[in-house]
Amino acid sequence: ATRAAAMVKETIRVYARVKPLGRRQQAGIYSVDDDEKPLSSLEIIVPRDLADGFINNKRESYKFKFQKIFDQEAKQDVVFDSIAKPVAECVLAGYNGTIFAYGQTGSGKTFTITGGAERYSDRGIIPRTLSYIFDQLQKDNSKVYTTHVSYLEIYNECGYDLLDPRHEASRLEDLPKVTIMEDPDQNIHLKNLSLQQATNEEEALNLLFLGDTNRMIAETPMNQASTRSHCIFTIHISSKEPGSATIRHSKLHLVDLAGSERVAKTGVGGHLLTEAKYINLSLHYLEQVIIALAEKNRSHIPYRNSMMTSVLRDSLGGNCMTTMIATLSIDKRNIDESISTCRFAQRVALIKNEAVLNEEIDPRLMIVQLQKEIQELKDELELVTGKQRTSELSQEELLQLDELIETFLKDNDPDSTLDVGADMRKIKYCFIHVKQLMNHSKISDKKLSQHISDEKDANKEAGEEELKKLKELLQQRDNEINILVNMLKKEKKKAQDALLQLNAASAGSKVLEQSLPVNFEESQNPSSCFSLKEAKDFSSSVHRLPFISRQTGGKMSLGCQEAFEVFKQEHADSITIEDNKQLLKQRFAEAKCLGEKLNEVRNKINHLKGEITQRHIQRAALAVSSPSEELNTLDPVEEKLRKQIEEEKKSYKTMFNRLKGLKVEIEHLQLLMEKVKMKLQKDFEVWWSEEAINLQQEKSEMISSPNTTTVYPQFIKSSQHLSTN
Ligand code: ADP
Ligand code: MG
Repeated sequence: ATRAAAMVKETIRVYARVKPLGRRQQAGIYSVDDDEKPLSSLEIIVPRDLADGFINNKRESYKFKFQKIFDQEAKQDVVFDSIAKPVAECVLAGYNGTIFAYGQTGSGKTFTITGGAERYSDRGIIPRTLSYIFDQLQKDNSKVYTTHVSYLEIYNECGYDLLDPRHEASRLEDLPKVTIMEDPDQNIHLKNLSLQQATNEEEALNLLFLGDTNRMIAETPMNQASTRSHCIFTIHISSKEPGSATIRHSKLHLVDLAGSERVAKTGVGGHLLTEAKYINLSLHYLEQVIIALAEKNRSHIPYRNSMMTSVLRDSLGGNCMTTMIATLSIDKRNIDESISTCRFAQRVALIKNEAVLNEEIDPRLMIVQLQKEIQELKDELELVTGKQRTSELSQEELLQLDELIETFLKDNDPDSTLDVGADMRKIKYCFIHVKQLMNHSKISDKKLSQHISDEKDANKEAGEEELKKLKELLQQRDNEINILVNMLKKEKKKAQDALLQLNAASAGSKVLEQSLPVNFEESQNPSSCFSLKEAKDFSSSVHRLPFISRQTGGKMSLGCQEAFEVFKQEHADSITIEDNKQLLKQRFAEAKCLGEKLNEVRNKINHLKGEITQRHIQRAALAVSSPSEELNTLDPVEEKLRKQIEEEKKSYKTMFNRLKGLKVEIEHLQLLMEKVKMKLQKDFEVWWSEEAINLQQEKSEMISSPNTTTVYPQFIKSSQHLSTN
């Protein structure tokens, strides 16, 4: 079924019906003009003479336009055909419809809506509409229809369910009370109003009869329900095409309103221009709604002021095809009320309604329908493929697919295809799998590129720095080798000199004995410090290069270290350092020993103190058990213990002072050693740079004199000689 977004925009159609005059009634002056197509006009003339109490031939005329005017002779069938039938057709098509009768009491509202009780031909709109609708439903086999009816009476803002079958109501209050409920979408729901299903005309008419009976019985001269209450008979139709999930709902309200008479009978004359107040308050609110709707750009419509306007909200300016019948009792006495009714009708005629096709999809029906469709498609698929399908792929099939995808992705042949057969499940799985793979690689790519870009800049800088460093290092290595070569040359010379010296005398050993320092002051002697001093003089005159160890990140190259070792050995103060080391070791050992001894003495003192306390306790106990004068005298044992403590304390003090002195000496020695070490390093640095400069000069000289190549064999010899030494 296609869903037609049909909407009908239409003003409320307003008809007029003039009630036949009663026997004793005197007709008012009015005329109906049917020639003014498409509308008819009703002219009411008010005779002036009656108003002023004297003869006045001047007459006042009021003209009103209606869709159609049904005069006194108009029969029910005609009224139905022209007023109700078009509305009933719309309702059958799925639109909401409303027909309401408005007029003063006794003007023929009930007669028009429900009908006269005496003759069959006097049947009103409700029974005729029911008859018509069921006729149409029977004729139409293309849809499945369901019909329900409800009958609501509103009296004094209270709703009553007239179709309650349990009650033989004697009072209106005995009927179930109907209340209004508003859902979040602001739709009105009537709680407690029974919806009685009527499968045919007879059932529906029986329900109408039940409702009318309840309505009549409930009426007492006291409550005057028929004149002061509103009765809304509603036919609910839902239709659905077989097999479709779309349902159409429509409602037809057939409304018999309360009498529209006003508070003061104005009689005739001047009061006609000012409108008197409604007796019925809800009709007053109805008028308010009508006025509000007639105004342009009015956003708030006071529907909620009364139950009747709430129930009829859609009928007034909403989703509904609405028709009004203004019933007129046109006898002389009711001229003014008739004019009021007509005035009201003119306002109502301005209201535009927007009726939409009330279609909705029943989810339950939709599910059933879709399930059926799926099963049919499955069956069809099974027939075509010859295979039974379950909704999920087996583990085996999934593994197969994984393999297929893998080989496909690895295949570099541009013509390679991934063929999984005509199976949507497999095709879908492949796409999901590939998507997962893509996402995964995207993530790792992103991570990688992020990582690279992060490090790129740093790397660039670091790379340049590294290159610079390596270049420098290379230069240093070059220098190192050359310096070492030079050193070895010197060593060789020294070794030769030593041989000569050995041959001459044993002077070297004497020098060694002399330079053995016992303490710091001794190590300061000029002979052992000569080279240090010499280096110092040197450093002041030579521009110092940054120290190699610092350049290479705190680490001396191996060659440089070797050179440093040789340098250390070569310089006399290495002995001093070594001696200081030994001395420091000795002092440490001494301090440790002294510390232990101090502890011992302290323990001894504590022990002696304990003995004295013990002695005190013994003596006190003895004094209690056998008091004697002897106990009051000095205890020789205690005296002896005290003397011992004094002695121990003395030695403790001496040892402590000695330890203090040792500590100072140790700290001093440590500082000294640190100083010497630093000095040596600096000297080495100076020497190293010096050598480097010298080498550079030698290099340039070497180009002019190639003799120096002979250095190498000697160097090898001498190094062998040194290592065996
Ligand atoms: P209302 O419901 O507006 O108070 P009713 O429908 O009860 O008025 O009518 C009052 C009386 O007039 C009733 O007895 C009714 O049968 C009679 N009547 C109303 N309209 C017509 C009509 N068009 N033809 C014949 N009798 C009518
Ligand atoms: Mg009535």
